[in-house]
Amino acid sequence: MTDERPETKVLDGGLGTELAADETLVFKDHPLWTASLLKDNPKAIKAAHSRFLCAGSEAVITASYQASVDGFMKYFNVSAEDAQLLLQSSVDIAKDAVKEFSSANKSNKDLYVAASVGPYGATLHDMSEYDGHYVETMTTEDAKTTFHGDNFVESVKRVSLNPQVESIGVNCCEVTFVEELLRSVEDVLRPDQTLIAYPNNWQKFVDKRWVCDISRSFSGYVEKWLSVGAMGWIGGCCGVTSPQVGEMTQIVKNWNANLDNLKNQMHNH
Ligand SMILES: [Zn+2]
Repeated sequence: MTDERPETKVLDGGLGTELAADETLVFKDHPLWTASLLKDNPKAIKAAHSRFLCAGSEAVITASYQASVDGFMKYFNVSAEDAQLLLQSSVDIAKDAVKEFSSANKSNKDLYVAASVGPYGATLHDMSEYDGHYVETMTTEDAKTTFHGDNFVESVKRVSLNPQVESIGVNCCEVTFVEELLRSVEDVLRPDQTLIAYPNNWQKFVDKRWVCDISRSFSGYVEKWLSVGAMGWIGGCCGVTSPQVGEMTQIVKNWNANLDNLKNQMHNH
């Protein structure tokens, strides 16, 4: 990490996982998944965002992964305008949670709301974004290709050319590949761009279901990702709950503090 790069920040965990921890919430079999709660139980979504913020998340990601105007119209039988409002509410709910957290904790920390825009397949509600390539290419081959089989370095190169892109990274891949993947693109970024690590917690997509291997460590990998230069954001996707975000936050805080100490020592010499 060079002097001009900001400190690494903490993203949230998997919103679906956090919501699923409450077994009274009904959404898992709904075609719109967590997005169905935008209509059925927006309070539960806000509470989940709040738990992530309390655990140290500096950005929360909206419950809109599987949301679309067509989907809301089809499954909730609402007008196009109302469907738009439901989509918009995903951002409003997250903003509300951030506002409440900031005022309750008298915090001036910069907190962000990130809109979750699922891959096109997610709006088809047939799991097509999780086809074989999604899991196999990324998790079993060589950690060099995207889910669509593109070369990862080449893909990042192309994306980094967009002046609007501030941060580029990996999401919902296996923890073991993150360090290698991100190192392979460290030198591809512009000096003002950073990397994102948002892997899942040992999740495998087997027989149309996510299976989690809880005997394996997630937080044990966080320092490896921090050691990659230009690390902008660290969080976790499926299988990562607010307590794990809390653990991550502690590791990131310690890392940032050590970096500050090193910088100060260098200035003093
Ligand atoms: Zn995921």
